[in-house]
Amino acid sequence: MKKDVLGVQIDDLPLSEAVDAGFQLLDKPGFHYVVTPNPEFILEARKNEPFRQVLNHADLSLPDGIGVVYAAKILGKTLQGRTPGVDFAQGLMTRMAGAGKRLYLLGAKPGVAEKAAGELKSRYPGLVICGTHDGYFQEDAPVVDDIRASRADVVFVCLGAPKQEFWMAHNGPNTGAALAVGLGGCLDVFAGNVKRAPEAWQKAGLEWLYRLIREPSRLGRMAKLPIVLLDAAKARVTWR
Ligand code: UDP
Repeated sequence: MKKDVLGVQIDDLPLSEAVDAGFQLLDKPGFHYVVTPNPEFILEARKNEPFRQVLNHADLSLPDGIGVVYAAKILGKTLQGRTPGVDFAQGLMTRMAGAGKRLYLLGAKPGVAEKAAGELKSRYPGLVICGTHDGYFQEDAPVVDDIRASRADVVFVCLGAPKQEFWMAHNGPNTGAALAVGLGGCLDVFAGNVKRAPEAWQKAGLEWLYRLIREPSRLGRMAKLPIVLLDAAKARVTWR
């Protein structure tokens, strides 16, 4: 069931059900895409109507950040928990490996997607990584053609938001893939270039703090978390 968080529709599913729903999309006719909103997405969507539309037309919209869960709570709409894009991607790759499905990795700096491909091939035997491309290209058409030629079932689109969501909605249907997933900086994680927070920090909902300590330059971006919570509180008060 979708829940509205400040204008953005969010699927309220535990991780295992989100992965099941994502995997089932591979058997449905047509093209599908998954988005993973965090507080930055929600603030962007409030001033960027086309972005909000693209988010709300996604087949699955998973709450990547704990800030989305808190904002929903303030609005009186409890979510079952956050569903980090990286965890969703790992669950999906496990299912894809079991079925010999084909995955294309798009995004990040030159060399990163290839490095991630190497790591993922050994971590998920059976998964076919059928192509890679960096995220700093000028024209879409050659990239779309390359994905089509690779006969990918799934494309991980890691160009940062909102670029990756527009890219999926606009180009996805021409790639021939059944599913695209917008995953931000995940290729840097899969390549081993960026470390995730230890599990205890993740469970405590403090992954954002760990990331901030390692990359203090993200402070400006993370300052959006309290703004979203404030917006949620204002919306709740007004609504009442
Ligand atoms: N990126 C890209 N093309 C661009 C801009 C960004 O491929 O034109 C990549 C960037 O190298 C990084 C990812 O997109 O790997 C975005 O990371 P970000 O920190 O925005 O994502 P988050 O970690 O917040 O999900």
